[in-house]
Order: sequence, then structure tokens, then C-alpha cells
Amino acid sequence: MTSEYPNWKKYERLIAQMMRDQLDTNFSVTPNATIKGISSNINRQIDVLIDSRHDTDNSTRLIVDAKIRTRKISLLDVESFIGLMNDVQATHGYLVSTNGFTKSAIIRAQEAITLRILPLEYLENFEPSNWPDCTVKNCKNGKVFWDGYPAIDLYVQPQGAINHEISKLTIVNYVGKCDKCRCFYIKCTNCKTILMVPHSDNGDCGHQCTCRQSWFWLGSIESDSSGNKSAELHLIASNKVMTVSRRSF
Ligand SMILES: [Zn+2]
Ligand SMILES: [Zn+2]
Repeated sequence: MTSEYPNWKKYERLIAQMMRDQLDTNFSVTPNATIKGISSNINRQIDVLIDSRHDTDNSTRLIVDAKIRTRKISLLDVESFIGLMNDVQATHGYLVSTNGFTKSAIIRAQEAITLRILPLEYLENFEPSNWPDCTVKNCKNGKVFWDGYPAIDLYVQPQGAINHEISKLTIVNYVGKCDKCRCFYIKCTNCKTILMVPHSDNGDCGHQCTCRQSWFWLGSIESDSSGNKSAELHLIASNKVMTVSRRSF
């Protein structure tokens, strides 16, 4: 099978997957994000964006830059990454490269940037073209990246319950987003159906899986106190509303 992913794109997705697997589930990972720069006033492309998952809070924003290089990453590369971090208000950055870093680059990175080497050989058994297809019309070759598996406690009344008996139910859903159009996705815990949830809530009353669980999903656009925007995915149950995935932009 031929891959729809060129190496640079596979490299970015592999790093997104590794960040997801290593980070606490309170962080939501977005491959191929864009954020409007505060100094440049243009949309900056971010290889991997890491946001707080459950709150409209952009104060702990992390970004990752992935660089396939035949030479070492230089001081200038680090300085341009610091410029990007400042422009998109990232508090920490990860520079990941195939071929290491010069001494002056390492000194310049200091504690604001974590440097990592990830050789190209790691791509050998990694095939993001096997990820589920995005079903959004006009989204060509978009794939669903599962950004995490948050456990959510719900308090539900079991069917046939007497005396308003309430029991705790913990559900673990795959939540994710398209790596191209960035629409949200859910994999139903119960029937394994993959459900697309748009990120705009204009006239949207929510999305429920066809297996009719008692909760549903709703996307919305939110702003923090400084006016920074994010798309958010919420789980809405009878007695609980919870943000389960986010990406700022
Ligand atoms: Zn898409
Ligand atoms: Zn279902």
C-alpha cells in the first residue's frame, strides 16, 4: 500500500502520537494546528499544539516543531523557534530533529525549550494513512488523530431503577480531531461508531450516537479573558457538562 503521507508529515504525526502517549490526559494534542500570532497578526502553522484539555485556559500552551534535517539544528533555527513561541504565546517548546543540535543551539535553548533527537528510522512501522478517514465533505485525505482517552464519570439512573437510585458510570471515549480540517471526532464506547462533531455550534443542538446513550456531544467556539479563541468539544449529560477536547487557534 502506498502512503498518502510524505515523510515530513509522517514525522510530525509520529511526534504528535508520542506526545499524546507521554503527556497527562489533562492535555489535548493537536497535529497541524494554526494559531494567530500576536505580533505577526498572521496564522502560524504549528506542527503539534498542546493545550489544556478541560478548561478554556491558554496559559500553559506548548508547541512542538519537527525538523527533518541532514545537518544539526543551529542557533538561528532555535532563535526562529523562540520567535514563533513568543508570537503564539507558548510557555514551553519542543524542538525535535533527526540530526541533533549544535553547541550554541543547545546553550540558546536553555530551559524554555526541550531538545529531542528522533531518528528517521522510527517512521518504519508507523502508518498514519491507516487512521480513520475524516468524513467531512471537501476534506481531502484528512485522517482522525485520537488525541486522548479521558475517563469521564457520569451519574446516571439505571433503567428500571427504583427510588431515584443513581449509580456512577465511568466512560472512556476516544476523542480526537481530523489532522487536516481539525473537526472533532468521538469513538462511541458502547458500539464503536466513529462520530464527527463540527466545531461550530450555530443552531447545533448536539450529536448523539445512533446507539442512543443518554449523553451527547457538542462543539463550540470559546474565548478566554484575553480574547484568545479555541474550538472545544463538550460532553453533555443530564447532570454534567464537561469539555473533553480543545484546540486553540
Ligand atoms: Zn477533515
Ligand atoms: Zn454508540
